[in-house]
Amino acid sequence: MNRRNFLQTAGVGSLALASGVTACAPRLNAIAQRSAHRVPKLKLSLDRIVKETVGLRPFRASGPRIAKESLGNKTIVHNYGHGGSGWSLSWGTGNLARELVLSTGEKKVAVLGCGTVGLATARLLQEKGCEVTIYTKDLPPNVTSNLATGTWSPASRVCDPKVASPEFRDLWEKATRFSFRRFQFMLGLDDIVSWVDEYSVSNEPMQPRTDPAIGGEVYHLPGLIPDRKDLSPNEHSFGAKYVGWRSNMMFNIPSYLHHQMTMFTMLGGKIRVQEIKRLEDIDALPEACVVNCMGLGAKEVFNDPELTPVSGQLACLIPQPEVTYKLNARGASIIARKDGIYLGGNGLVGNWDTTPQREVTEKFVYTIQQVMNEMRA
Ligand SMILES: Cc1cc2nc3c(=O)[nH]c(=O)nc-3n(C[C@H](O)[C@H](O)[C@H](O)COP(=O)(O)OP(=O)(O)OC[C@H]3O[C@@H](n4cnc5c(N)ncnc54)[C@H](O)[C@@H]3O)c2cc1C
Repeated sequence: MNRRNFLQTAGVGSLALASGVTACAPRLNAIAQRSAHRVPKLKLSLDRIVKETVGLRPFRASGPRIAKESLGNKTIVHNYGHGGSGWSLSWGTGNLARELVLSTGEKKVAVLGCGTVGLATARLLQEKGCEVTIYTKDLPPNVTSNLATGTWSPASRVCDPKVASPEFRDLWEKATRFSFRRFQFMLGLDDIVSWVDEYSVSNEPMQPRTDPAIGGEVYHLPGLIPDRKDLSPNEHSFGAKYVGWRSNMMFNIPSYLHHQMTMFTMLGGKIRVQEIKRLEDIDALPEACVVNCMGLGAKEVFNDPELTPVSGQLACLIPQPEVTYKLNARGASIIARKDGIYLGGNGLVGNWDTTPQREVTEKFVYTIQQVMNEMRA
């Protein structure tokens, strides 16, 4: 074969190959697209549920109370009432509370409460050289923060926008931005914070939820996490008519709380188990500046009529390591954490009862089972 023939043959061959590839391309693309969002099915049954809990979100219609007031010789800085956003906002409102503390010039500070808000606030104060003692009725795991889902949700049940002031909207934005930045520094630390795929599935067109009582995201801050993208049927394996996808952050709560406690004590922080029953108990503390991070516990001590519980039930399935996504369906959602797969999604305003209801768990299981049954192979 001379050089000219060879080039011609090679040319025809590569053309044939190229056209074959072109013919296969749409199918390969479809497979590639579909496999991008092909998620493993959940093993769902009531006997895989190892834990059911009810936590009380500390909700205030006007938003979390971040304020400074005098009580006799003491300065009290309030940082409580975060609704369904306490994990997400903990660093941000902790930073706002820290600014109020630093304005007093005090370096010995008492923090009341050892939930996610108290721990973040205490650590931020340590970073500015404060000597911090936490006084708390209970320690993790016996705190509301340990009964949360663990998603980045800074606007979930954070306030009632009809009641909250425009100034609160600004504070919220400042807190949200601060928290978001802080979480990026926690990525890679033993998976206590990570990014996951979050899917929303529905057979009805998806509307943004606006009712704060049912978990509506009352504020939106574009540009922090990626916007939700609608997926076409060939991009996923769910059976639902409408499927949305975005990346979101999640928190592995037990390891996160452990990390915070360890860091706090490692940096010289002290923890005292002590219940604050009345204002006189605060007056008796040695520190002149006291940060109130007692969550719902602040209601009675500080006589706050606005603070109300919004209860939320969770059911935890045995961990399934291959399941790493979050899924929202109408009436139930799941999030896969290291310690288990959590089903949840309800909110009862004003309910103080922390007894798990089996029928609520059964409804979560049934709703998610429907989604799994409809998934295409
Ligand atoms: C079902 C559910 C799901 C949630 N999901 C999310 C989510 O995905 N993302 C998110 O950001 N948030 C979520 N939240 C909200 C979040 O859990 C709360 O906003 C957060 O835990 C509040 O933290 P905290 O530290 O203020 O309160 P707590 O965790 O309640 O801590 C309060 C601390 O104060 C102490 N204390 C109380 N009273 C007294 C007293 N009288 N004397 C001394 N100490 C006292 C307690 O012992 C405790 O240590 C969820 C909540 C629930 C219930």
